[in-house]
Amino acid sequence: MRLIILGAPGAGKGTQAKILSDKYQVPHISTGEIFRSNIKEGTSLGMKAKEYIDDGKLVPDSLTIEIVKEYITREECKSGFVLDGFPRTIPQAEYLDKALVQMNIKLSAVLNIFVEDEEIVKRLSGRRVCPKCGSSYHISYNPPEPGDVCKNCKTKVIQREDDTEETILERIRIYYNQTVPLIDYYKEKGLLITATGQEEISDTTKEVFEVLKNIK
Ligand code: AMP
Repeated sequence: MRLIILGAPGAGKGTQAKILSDKYQVPHISTGEIFRSNIKEGTSLGMKAKEYIDDGKLVPDSLTIEIVKEYITREECKSGFVLDGFPRTIPQAEYLDKALVQMNIKLSAVLNIFVEDEEIVKRLSGRRVCPKCGSSYHISYNPPEPGDVCKNCKTKVIQREDDTEETILERIRIYYNQTVPLIDYYKEKGLLITATGQEEISDTTKEVFEVLKNIK
């Protein structure tokens, strides 16, 4: 399975990507996670990416493409991958197309998870994440354990620095300008499938499994 997951910030890409990566036993590649762990480790990539991420902007294509190139050519990605948060711009998608041709492989599908704007703002402003294992929570819809600790690894959950009101609005604006054109891009290639991410996580997963049922 070689899958791309598209969707607005907060649509649940990361959550569904983790589930799909377990189901299909392929690596989950999240460019956002890669940047965040580089920021935590204080690498030069992390330092460069941080200024864009904290402002709700996209990290420049050149930097992002370098990273993805390094990941998708790894041995463990030979049998497939779930790409979460990449591509986010047309040049990134064009790069990926070229790289896949060079590697002589094809995408299985591009899954777009659709959520209304109003819901996105609610979700992102209430989102909490575990800095250790990456589990994602919401203060009202899916709260962590009492004391704000992760259900999975008992680490105190945090709010992402880019989940503040002002940054959220900028991320949504950029999503419409730069990422939404990818929906048509992949539709024209006959690769697009869609699921609704509006309800409970388990409802989305059910729908995602259904739309992916005949895809290898
Ligand atoms: P995410 O965890 O996917 O929401 O990504 C968090 C942030 O990382 C985004 O708001 C961007 O600033 C940056 N980022 C992640 N993926 C990309 C990408 N493909 N291109 C540019 N910036 C990205």
